[in-house]
Amino acid sequence: MNADPQEIAKFSELAHRWWDPESEFRPLHQINPLRLDWIETHQRVAGKRVLDVGCGGGILSDAMARRGAHVLGIDLSSKALKVAQLHAMEAATPSVEFREVAVEALAQEGSAQFDMITCMEMLEHVPDPSSIVGACATLVKPGGWLFFSTLNRNAKSFLFAIIGAEHVLKLLPKGTHEYAKFIRPSELAQWCRSSGLELTDTRGMEYNPITRRYWLSGDTSVNYMIACRKPA
Ligand code: SAH
Repeated sequence: MNADPQEIAKFSELAHRWWDPESEFRPLHQINPLRLDWIETHQRVAGKRVLDVGCGGGILSDAMARRGAHVLGIDLSSKALKVAQLHAMEAATPSVEFREVAVEALAQEGSAQFDMITCMEMLEHVPDPSSIVGACATLVKPGGWLFFSTLNRNAKSFLFAIIGAEHVLKLLPKGTHEYAKFIRPSELAQWCRSSGLELTDTRGMEYNPITRRYWLSGDTSVNYMIACRKPA
């Protein structure tokens, strides 16, 4: 199985705090509207069948469902999925389901099942991210869209995402990220191309520790997202 049990355990341990906007998950809550608005500049989610890979407690899944998408969120942390399910029930979120299944296993159940696929802040936690990209490429319909986000690998991302975020600002627990697993945009682009996807757009995300705000920018040196499409 293409998953690191220690990574899954890390997220499971914190899962009960997933929907606390001041918890370890504050950064995800803060970037959520930014990434969803950016996704929707490419493709509106309303009425679309969307797969959210590595959905965790469901912050993005939930927001997409509220904008009218039919969402399936998948993850391998059963605790995170329970939290996602409970939150959807309490908040009466329409059209969202969660399942504990590996994306590669879902791809074996059938190809071209989804109009859109999101896989955010997850690739840097798996042993073989290219296999995740490949399974996503199988699962998206021809003409469909895929959105990935992760952390770049360079001296600045080490300084900002590990030293800054985990040790100085303490935005994230120590050990959340492992530098060697960070992914250069060129590597992610190569995996997408080898899976037959066309790269459409790249966007950076920046953070100001004084104002405690994130914004989208052209600077992909730390946090970034890419949009790609499966040819019709
Ligand atoms: N995508 C969500 C959560 C990101 S946290 C968001 O951006 O809001 C990373 C998530 O990836 C965790 O929930 C963790 O359990 C999950 N994860 C790690 N390895 C995985 C794997 N191999 N398959 C599915 N999910 C995985």
